[in-house]
Amino acid sequence: MISFPEPISQLIDGFMKLPGIGPKTAQRLAFHVLHMSEEDVQHLSRALLAVKKDLRYCRVCCNITDVDPCMICRDELRDHRLICVVQDPRDVAAMERTREFHGLYHVLHGAISPIGGIGPEDIRIKELLDRMRDTLPKELIVATNPTVEGEATAMFLTRLVKPLGVRVTRIARGLPMGGDLEYADELTLTQALEGRREI
Ligand SMILES: [Zn+2]
Repeated sequence: MISFPEPISQLIDGFMKLPGIGPKTAQRLAFHVLHMSEEDVQHLSRALLAVKKDLRYCRVCCNITDVDPCMICRDELRDHRLICVVQDPRDVAAMERTREFHGLYHVLHGAISPIGGIGPEDIRIKELLDRMRDTLPKELIVATNPTVEGEATAMFLTRLVKPLGVRVTRIARGLPMGGDLEYADELTLTQALEGRREI
């Protein structure tokens, strides 16, 4: 292993902590930073710090936000009695891109996975029940990923919420099994939302 001056080694180590970045890519990125303008490096380092310092979780929907409650939960024009449950903040962004959904969200930050040892208490299900205690939604749209974990989560939520008298629907049509919601294109996602069925 070639030894680089300490600051470069530190940067390489830092990049290697990112997903999908091996030693070669980390070295390439580190040397790229070396050749960037000081202004661009300042901007990048401020952006890195800001995601840790300025971001928090919305107390209502658990999405990441810089204002609490988030802009979506604050929006009076949206239907507050319609809640779309997703696994990841990136799924909210994907749904918003369709411009077809005008309710609120709930971000679980994961899915139930018996094999992976992730139970209902490890994701934001308690927070969902807490917010439903204040106002009961008329419909809960379960938009977890079409994977084994996503389906298990959908089933768990249905069993939990349906007895409360809430209509529970699941988006389905057009989404490939095993796929990730965030990678679905806008048309597919819009169709999946329109073709939701009661579960
Ligand atoms: Zn929110």
